[in-house]
Amino acid sequence: MSKKPFLTLEKAREIIEKYPTPFHIYDEAGIRKNAQQLKDAFSWNKGYKEYFAVKATPNPFLVKILREYGCGCDCSSKTELMLAKTVGALGDDIMFSSNDTPSDEFAYCAKLGGIINLDDISHIELVEKACGRLPEKMSCRYNPGGVFKLSNGIMDNPGDAKYGMTHDQILKAFAILKDKGVKKFGLHAFLCSNTVSDEYYPMLAKVLFELAAEIKEKVGVSISFINLSGGVGIPYLPDQEPNDISKIGIGVHKVFNEVLVPAGLGDVSIYTELGRYMTGPYGALITTAINHKHIYKEYIGVDACAANLMRPAMYGAYHHITVLGKENAECSRKYDITGSLCENNDKFAIDRMMPEIEKGDILFIHDTGAHGFSMGYNYNGKLRSAELLLRSDSSVQMIRRAETAADYFATFDCFDFYESLITE
Ligand SMILES: *Cc1c(COP(=O)(O)O)cnc(C)c1O
Repeated sequence: MSKKPFLTLEKAREIIEKYPTPFHIYDEAGIRKNAQQLKDAFSWNKGYKEYFAVKATPNPFLVKILREYGCGCDCSSKTELMLAKTVGALGDDIMFSSNDTPSDEFAYCAKLGGIINLDDISHIELVEKACGRLPEKMSCRYNPGGVFKLSNGIMDNPGDAKYGMTHDQILKAFAILKDKGVKKFGLHAFLCSNTVSDEYYPMLAKVLFELAAEIKEKVGVSISFINLSGGVGIPYLPDQEPNDISKIGIGVHKVFNEVLVPAGLGDVSIYTELGRYMTGPYGALITTAINHKHIYKEYIGVDACAANLMRPAMYGAYHHITVLGKENAECSRKYDITGSLCENNDKFAIDRMMPEIEKGDILFIHDTGAHGFSMGYNYNGKLRSAELLLRSDSSVQMIRRAETAADYFATFDCFDFYESLITE
């Protein structure tokens, strides 16, 4: 399989005339089609709702598009809660799945009427203090410990993760919540990240559904929503088979009928908190080749850097790169594609076979639509790029401007200092 960019060279050139590289650009048509497919896949469940994990791409314009498909917002900080508020997500449209939470953020979430998803049993008391009393609806996050393995070799290590409550703690937490007058209960777990497998959600569902049945039996609490969280992945590698969301929906439905219905929990609502799956493939970082260096290896220097996209530097993540206009050229050269940070891990690709790249070539770095721009930072005085939206009618809208040096200096609280720099 090959990865197809959603921009042609011609279109990219037209955009660059107005908006210089580097920038992130998102594909509205792709985001919409995918959101509809997810909705369809879970339409068998009456209360189904996706809470978009806004940390993946915290841009109000994109979140607004997802709102049209019934999506709420999954937030984990006060600023993300504020972002949810700006797009009109309030009350049950907010899921607050935070951890190590400052108590004023619990209070802010409660003020917006959002659903608090408790990461720890000790937080019951914190929420009670911060909010005066517990909200009527509350959720708890489960961590079963051990390792979580899928048959294709994907695994993760919940036993080594800081999130959630143990089995005994979560039973106790629901008993306390019930005692304290909470009326509606939710259950949540996130056990494996970026799973390119149709098996993950059904396996996770089984763990949570069985736990819900146990909670009903032992604690007398009927769970009303089960949140499968994030973790459904995307194929970053060109030879990976993408997930089939309709199969995933069918798989969860099957376990629902096998476990929840016989337990008398057939009216449970299924929630998801997907981030990467919602926007990942529908974003790209567009950058221009500006330098070519030959020492012990061949380097192509581009005008973007790890401050625009940290995943390769941070965890060696693969992002496919297409040289626009050279889609069908032979990959006869071996390059490192680098940014200009004074860090040797500032490389978008290492020893990658690619077509011959010339200065001025435009590179399309795939799959930056989630955990891309949002992980950006200002190291080496790098300024955050613009974010653009390729509309369904193929027009282009700037949905966040690029930072300027004035933004960089603004937080010194000595803005005059910047003024003096530019007037000198
Ligand atoms: C990051 C995160 C998500 C989204 O994860 P993806 O891998 O982007 O789907 C959902 N829920 C919580 C609590 C998270 O921390």
